[in-house]
Amino acid sequence: MIEISETASNSTRHIMKYRRFFLTGLLALTLVTPLSAGTLHVATTGNDKNPGTLALPFATIQRSENSAGPGDTVFIHGGTYKMPATQITAQRRDRAEVTVLSKSGMPGKPICYFAAPGEIPLFDFSDVKPPDHRVTAFSIDASWLHLKGLSVTGVQVTITSHTQSICFDNEGNNNIYEQLQMHDGQAIGFWLGKGSNNLIVNCDSYRNYDYTSENKKGGNVDGFGFHAPKGSVGNIFRGCRAWFNSDDGFDLINTIEPILIENCWSFYNGFDPSFKGLGDGNGFKLGGYGVSGGPVPEVVPRHVIRLSLAVRNRSAGFYANHQPGGIDMLNNTAYLNSVNFNLLGRDASHTTDVPGYGHKLKNNLAYKGRTEVSNMNAAACELAANSFDLKLQFEDKDFLGLNQADLVAPRQANGDLPLVPFMKLRPGNPAVNKGVDAGLPFKGKAPDLGAFESEER
Ligand code: CA
Ligand code: CA
Repeated sequence: MIEISETASNSTRHIMKYRRFFLTGLLALTLVTPLSAGTLHVATTGNDKNPGTLALPFATIQRSENSAGPGDTVFIHGGTYKMPATQITAQRRDRAEVTVLSKSGMPGKPICYFAAPGEIPLFDFSDVKPPDHRVTAFSIDASWLHLKGLSVTGVQVTITSHTQSICFDNEGNNNIYEQLQMHDGQAIGFWLGKGSNNLIVNCDSYRNYDYTSENKKGGNVDGFGFHAPKGSVGNIFRGCRAWFNSDDGFDLINTIEPILIENCWSFYNGFDPSFKGLGDGNGFKLGGYGVSGGPVPEVVPRHVIRLSLAVRNRSAGFYANHQPGGIDMLNNTAYLNSVNFNLLGRDASHTTDVPGYGHKLKNNLAYKGRTEVSNMNAAACELAANSFDLKLQFEDKDFLGLNQADLVAPRQANGDLPLVPFMKLRPGNPAVNKGVDAGLPFKGKAPDLGAFESEER
């Protein structure tokens, strides 16, 4: 701003300076905003003093963020990025945040951080061990970002009291997280702590186990967590898998707002890979507030989970976790969990556990749980065409496949879940065409039960 009291010559100098600044700014804008969206490159052979071209790539995603703008794509090339502690970008409270993405894209012009086509960039955080700090490998405050194809491994826990480290921590809006792999670390895979309209799609979180903090039981490490405050709406987990996470596969314990989970598979959680029991071990922990004793939100979030699969989790496949209200569970399949569907609720005063009420359960299939369904107040739920209320009896031969190796089969080329026969209904299975309309597409004369609609007419 030019002060009125300035002399004329001072003003002129200021104006000249501002004009020069303005023109320089315009020139810079022209240079960094080409007609087509810009492309930048990050590689293990890169250097942050480079210009970020294919020939002269950056070394870090953090550096690429400075140069990227809305509509740009940063290609991250394959290989192992051994992250040093010197790459910690921010220390906030007790968190050491390594890569921090705080620059947003725009509607229709996201900033994309993509694995270079056909390449697998693996970020190894095993050397990042800040004393007395939680580690957040990727901290995303920004909005309108699209991350795709990145793998994160080896994230550490250094604190021995109650704590948690996180691979991806989202606090922005309108972000897409696609084909991310979070594995073999001590951290939670994906944490949605805040934000709206985020899509987490086709991501895998597996073999994550905190063997450092508290009692070394890994009681806090989930594959995917949604724990958002009021106003964090429109979020979706789709096509994601979670297995051998030391606590739960998916956990919604502390969220005030509802979420949609669909086409997700959760198995072997609460175990280490030798099936030694560790933490809670629910496939999908869909409710909350009971454990901490409140406070209960004014409106209890009504989550929707559909077309999802829970197998051989240490506790429940699908667990209402003391939710003082209902959840929509539609066309899910549960197999070999300790309890396939545990609907445990809390009364309205939130003091006493009661059989779950207010749930809408349609077309769910339960097979070979030690218990198929528990803690259900059937009269206070909307039940239709679940295998446990139809009292359907299955045998192994009713399914096209029960080979658990299928669960970890490689994904399809586009990142979708593998096409495998596991738990699909063989023609003649008593669940074929026994379902009711649950608002989901179906084949034949009626919906089937479970997560996989058969071709049978
Ligand atoms: Ca948990
Ligand atoms: Ca059908």
